[in-house]
Amino acid sequence: KLILAIESSCDETSVAVIENGDQILSNIVASQVKSHQRFGGVVPEVASRHHVEEITLCIEEALIKADVKPDDLSGVAVTYGPGLVGALLIGISAAKAFAWAHDLPLIPVNHMAGHIYAAHFVEPLEFPLMALLVSGGHTELVYMKETGSFEIIGETRDDAAGEAYDKVGRVLGLKYPSGKELDTLAHLGKDTYEFPRAMIKEDNYDFSFSGLKSSFINTVHNAQQREEELNIENLAASFQASVIDVLVDKTVRACKEYPVKQLVMAGGVAANQGLRERLAQALADELPEVTFIVPPLRLCGDNAAMIGAAAFVEAEKGHIATYELNAEPSLSFQTIAN
Ligand code: ATP
Ligand code: MG
Ligand code: FE
Repeated sequence: KLILAIESSCDETSVAVIENGDQILSNIVASQVKSHQRFGGVVPEVASRHHVEEITLCIEEALIKADVKPDDLSGVAVTYGPGLVGALLIGISAAKAFAWAHDLPLIPVNHMAGHIYAAHFVEPLEFPLMALLVSGGHTELVYMKETGSFEIIGETRDDAAGEAYDKVGRVLGLKYPSGKELDTLAHLGKDTYEFPRAMIKEDNYDFSFSGLKSSFINTVHNAQQREEELNIENLAASFQASVIDVLVDKTVRACKEYPVKQLVMAGGVAANQGLRERLAQALADELPEVTFIVPPLRLCGDNAAMIGAAAFVEAEKGHIATYELNAEPSLSFQTIAN
């Protein structure tokens, strides 16, 4: 079964052709990051305009690269939320037009489910599993009792982890998005600044990163006022240590509490080298029977391949959309009918 998958929820226009949910025949990703950098973040209107320009080119390129004709396809998948409404609508319109023109079923996919299913390209998912979703807009622990079933057992009360990276990076004058650069800096420094580990001892699976962000910003501003030297590498290392400590602690605890076979880490922040190493180590030490799966770096950020993998599961469950399908900017797992 060949699925054409379309992703346009934020600032990447991406189209992929996926075979049987686990083979990537093509995965075209057109990033707009350069256009948004001068604004220090994603500008929704700018994103929509780029998607309009890119989407048909990406569809053509994905088909050519996969050496597949529209008639060979068995479905068209598209992200319908969560994300920016204008950006989502471009992908949805393109998917509807393509599905209509070639008489193919339209498969609606939740972007966050897509992030989780990116792990399926590494190893077949086995249930029950725990997923740590860490991205630009989300930080949550999702328990999947079986395929297609999602229960959020904990989530951030304020900023997402990626958002915290991008906000503190901005204070240091780094380019947006700054997660990757902070990760690199962190590896050159030491955890010398004292930052909080919010909610780490609390008996729940929720997170909070806004206190850490404020503490970081205060440290930088105070030093600037007193004209003291700041050690950027150590600042990055201290910030990253705080983020990793809480993510690892709560994730391992959740894996002990729930009867899971696998732990999947996904989303843009799952590209973080420090986090990948620490979580792998903690799991190996404390729960060696749980398999840790994390997608390769190119499948951590937004891409259509992951949407195609999730779509395969949706299609098997008979989740097909009508042409009424609309963008759902704040789509959550709870709103997906199982
Ligand atoms: P969502 O998936 O919640 O809708 P999004 O799609 O905008 O949000 P992603 O593209 O999944 O988010 O991830 C982007 C985020 O990942 C950015 O905040 C970026 O800074 C962060 N990020 C990327 N690489 C790293 C890294 N190595 N370390 C930490 N953060 C990183
Ligand atoms: Mg992005
Ligand atoms: Fe994403």
